Amino acid sequence: TIAYLNGEFIPLEQARISPLDRGFLFGDGIYEVIPSYGGRMVGFTQHMARLANGLAAIEIGCDLDSMQWQIITQRLISDNRALLGDNIGVYLHVSRGADTRRYHAYPQGVSPTIFGFAFALAAPAQPDRLIHPGASVSLTQDLRWQRCHIKSTALLGNVMHFQQGAQEGNAETILFNQQGEITEASSSNVFIIKQGKAFTPPLDNQLLPGITRQLVLKCLSLANIEVAEEAITVDELMAADEVWITSSGKEILPITRVNGQIIGDGNVGEIWEQVFTVYSQQKFEL
Ligand code: PLP
Repeated sequence: TIAYLNGEFIPLEQARISPLDRGFLFGDGIYEVIPSYGGRMVGFTQHMARLANGLAAIEIGCDLDSMQWQIITQRLISDNRALLGDNIGVYLHVSRGADTRRYHAYPQGVSPTIFGFAFALAAPAQPDRLIHPGASVSLTQDLRWQRCHIKSTALLGNVMHFQQGAQEGNAETILFNQQGEITEASSSNVFIIKQGKAFTPPLDNQLLPGITRQLVLKCLSLANIEVAEEAITVDELMAADEVWITSSGKEILPITRVNGQIIGDGNVGEIWEQVFTVYSQQKFEL
């Protein structure tokens, strides 16, 4: 595939960075993953806003404006479409760059490393509850850091949580804090449905402000489903009628088992079908 590195489009296998890059040594960088279908991106404006917030939060100065990012992203999609097909995710990454030594403080006068590549996304699911098999997740205590609102490339905590779920044969791992409240999952956000009403944890430092989460909130409103951004306890999760996890790659994934226990009646829910129908129809316009 064709990748982008510091101003150039090159074959991914030819992309080279310094081992002193702070992204490599410290996980000192931020990233985005933007989904596209048939060449059309979902949530590009929102992804750009979060990218800008992330750069500001960790004080990386990056010259690229939203228009330049769009050109890079569109080119990664179009140049890789013959190879990857119609469903493409674009990974965009800005690390603080390569210093001349390994020293924790932010260096001055270092230019950021800007990297992007494209990968094949799974075909979107059909919004049909009778076809969708539903997925299972693990549930465990959130042992990550307290700056989860930053989309940092330092993902070891997330990787270890995801790995637990994978080892247990599950698609994801949902996490709860010391108060027994759901934060998010290792690489997605969480929604539940109870008696026709939707709930998702409020945005704070314990979770990533997911773009799909943001778009799903819009779809819930378009579908006239009441929604509250409110703490969800583990007990409320287990007693929910429906559980969903959302992310750019997974869209809205209905969960029918948590730690082996069946959710609701064990089938994919009606409200999922309703909201995912709206999402599928309108995702390029949200
Ligand atoms: N939470 C975490 C920890 C993530 O890594 C991700 C995305 O990969 C999400 C939530 C979902 O975010 P988005 O919908 O922007 O993909």
